[in-house]
Amino acid sequence: MYDILSSNANSFINDHEVIMSLDEGKLLATDPKAVASILKRAKTFKGLNHREAAVLMQVTDPDVLEKIYALAKHIKEHIYGRRIVIFAPLYLSDYCINNCSYCGYSSKNKNPQRHRLTQEQLKKEVQILEKLGHKRLALETGEDPINCPIDYIIECIQTIYSLKCENGAIRRVNINIAATSIENYYRLKEASIGTYILFQETYHKPTYLNAHPQGPKHNYEWHTEAHDRAMTAGIDDVGVGVLYGLYDWKYDTTAMLMHAEHLEAIHGVGPHTISVPRLRAATGMTQESFPYLVSDDHFKQLVAVLRLAVPYAGMILTTRESPDFRNEMINLGISQVSAGSCTGVGGYASSIKLEKKTDGGTPLVQFEPEDQRSPIEILKGLLKGGYIPSYCTACYREGRTGDRFMQLAKSGRIANVCQVNAILTLQEYIDDYGDHELKELGEIAIQREIDLMSNKKTKGKTVEALSQIKNGARDLRI
Ligand code: SF4
Ligand code: SF4
Repeated sequence: MYDILSSNANSFINDHEVIMSLDEGKLLATDPKAVASILKRAKTFKGLNHREAAVLMQVTDPDVLEKIYALAKHIKEHIYGRRIVIFAPLYLSDYCINNCSYCGYSSKNKNPQRHRLTQEQLKKEVQILEKLGHKRLALETGEDPINCPIDYIIECIQTIYSLKCENGAIRRVNINIAATSIENYYRLKEASIGTYILFQETYHKPTYLNAHPQGPKHNYEWHTEAHDRAMTAGIDDVGVGVLYGLYDWKYDTTAMLMHAEHLEAIHGVGPHTISVPRLRAATGMTQESFPYLVSDDHFKQLVAVLRLAVPYAGMILTTRESPDFRNEMINLGISQVSAGSCTGVGGYASSIKLEKKTDGGTPLVQFEPEDQRSPIEILKGLLKGGYIPSYCTACYREGRTGDRFMQLAKSGRIANVCQVNAILTLQEYIDDYGDHELKELGEIAIQREIDLMSNKKTKGKTVEALSQIKNGARDLRI
């Protein structure tokens, strides 16, 4: 039975409730009055529940879809302004004892080299990332308690935070590792992680069990209840996500919204981020074997509906998508993108000699990126599109996590903070790493944003901070 307050994954993500929501939604999607009423509610920036979202996911009228897209853009800019947060993934280890059907790190790939970065190799990777201007990382590992234990991950986090390269520094380390015990989540919390991100991959249990035929990840309940354990251990900011293409996108999106509602009902805080990766080819697999691949049009619809349903959540798109498509998605609700990503261990310093290997073969990639642009090219693209690329990491360092953050995000007040921090971090970036074109584009955008500021006090403070940055100050933030 569906019970939002249950601690059992099969109750708070109840299959019958998902199917009922989709059945009801299909009928209401053809009723203009019902759709108009849901859109009216979405306009209040208060979000939608999974039943309402299930209606919008089944709208097929092109005129109504255009309204949904326009509203998604409006809501995103109301909540977060024009800033787009930039981050990079960093792969620490590709050892994995799971056998996920869609992933290049799967243990079924028997012959490839497997690697784990030594601390020295990690330092080289981080230095390269810092020289590219990155400030925010998402650490990625496969699951292997022997070759990649929690002690190793904690040591890596400490190494990363300790490194400074010229003006470069990683200021926020988000963690994307397998579901683990509450004790380990306490340790991650103590290590000052940013967001703990765990993708569900699919909420459809039979598909989940089939896609994860062995290893600890086969345990659907252990995996689906992991965010609850993380939040119980004091990790305020957690991220959810679906790997689109494993099962019907409408089912998974409805279920992911139920997950968000559950987290908010139990812990008082919904997901900090929502990731929407689409299935891509990887070592040892092609897309052809997956019958639920999501078309571009349906992907647009799900991104827009998620933005209407969970206006406060950061929405993340990775380099799995092509540059043009990423730009389109940014208009529909995406607020964070990765840039210049390498999806293999040691990928940033690929010339370094890797420590440990099982036997011969080529290095694994978890998936094949579509967007191969460098960070600077991505920044230029965003600036040309009227967006402000942001390397901001201010919130968690200023204690704006969990419900404190949510209050600001839900009221739309976070946009003012985001705007100033985006401007300041962009100024840092163009001074430290920009070429001539980026400097020109960046200065124009910064001036435009300052001109748009209505609060004189904030404007004055921002202009003063910009002047300090130009004179060498770094890491100024509000
Ligand atoms: Fe391992 Fe994660 Fe890949 Fe599954 S998705 S094989 S758990 S790295
Ligand atoms: Fe993110 Fe907070 Fe910075 Fe805005 S101010 S970009 S929400 S860290």
